[in-house]
Amino acid sequence: MPNTIDLRSDTAIQPTTPMLEAVRHLQFGDDLLCEDQSTNTLVTQACTLLGKEDAVLTPSGTMSNQIAIAALTQPGDEVLLGPKSHIRNLESAGLAVISGAQIRCIPVQNGVYDIDTLESTITSGTLQEAPTGLISLEATYDLNSGYVTPLENYQAIRRIATKHNLPVFLDGARLFNAAHTLDVEPHQICQYVDAVQFSLNKGIGAPLGAILLGTKNFIATARRLRQRLGGGMRHSGLLAAPAIIALNEWRTTIETDHINARWLADQLNTNKHLTINNHPIDSNIINLTLNHNRMTVTSLIQALEKRDIYVKQIGDASARLVTHRSVSTTDLQYVSKQIHQIIKNQ
Ligand SMILES: *Cc1c(COP(=O)(O)O)cnc(C)c1O
Repeated sequence: MPNTIDLRSDTAIQPTTPMLEAVRHLQFGDDLLCEDQSTNTLVTQACTLLGKEDAVLTPSGTMSNQIAIAALTQPGDEVLLGPKSHIRNLESAGLAVISGAQIRCIPVQNGVYDIDTLESTITSGTLQEAPTGLISLEATYDLNSGYVTPLENYQAIRRIATKHNLPVFLDGARLFNAAHTLDVEPHQICQYVDAVQFSLNKGIGAPLGAILLGTKNFIATARRLRQRLGGGMRHSGLLAAPAIIALNEWRTTIETDHINARWLADQLNTNKHLTINNHPIDSNIINLTLNHNRMTVTSLIQALEKRDIYVKQIGDASARLVTHRSVSTTDLQYVSKQIHQIIKNQ
């Protein structure tokens, strides 16, 4: 067995040898001057895959999200998003501080946005109400469950947004996972949104960074905002070169992760002492709860850690397991066996 099996997040992915080799042979240029060759190649590749005019590389998904919101809203605007979204929960109130905007939540059920509520919530603002400035979606939705929004739901949201003259942004940290589940090309999802970002360091498995995409005008603004936030990176080829390889291989990488997640969930689901909360699994995230009268999820996690298996505790009672390229099928067989054994020994 390998030393450590880290299932806390797909951000635990380790770069492949070809990715590291690509960095070794780099000729660096300055991306503030748009002169880094591999960054330019990556940007073109991403624009083609997602069907957008232009793109910019940023250090993180969080920064891409914050830049997008700042570019697409005015201070005092209201942004509509799902209650379990990353922007609402894990970005340190950036939307309020950086953009001076406020959040209004739209109900989302297993990745499906409630269209009627969405439309009835939109307002152009009265003396007392804040005007709706942006609809912000997420793929895959819900950090701890990875639900995939159906294409028809995107289409319906687009129709409403266009009717009310509102921009739509997609936090597509795991866009490629969503595209694989829907069996579509990434641009088929992105056609319904004005701007989108995806993470390089999640499912597709490059070491670092994110890409923000949209129209040429939007990206010109985004470049200025990135600079303001200190996110301009000169020799960004360091991030771009491995990401070019990751983007070439995304389908195989993600297909394996999804097969592995479904396999593990099915194995665990046979145990009557635990419940898979998001069964059937949409993407690469498994969320489980223990219903054992003598064992808590915290003690399960501690027992796994003694076996060098790491999973993430969510709230008091559930745990999250995320499959990714650096965890093999053999690793997962080992994980399944250990979980069954730990529960049995209680
Ligand atoms: C991980 C994640 C982000 C943030 O990406 P970082 O690179 O960690 O800043 C944003 N949105 C979603 C949905 C994510 O899963």
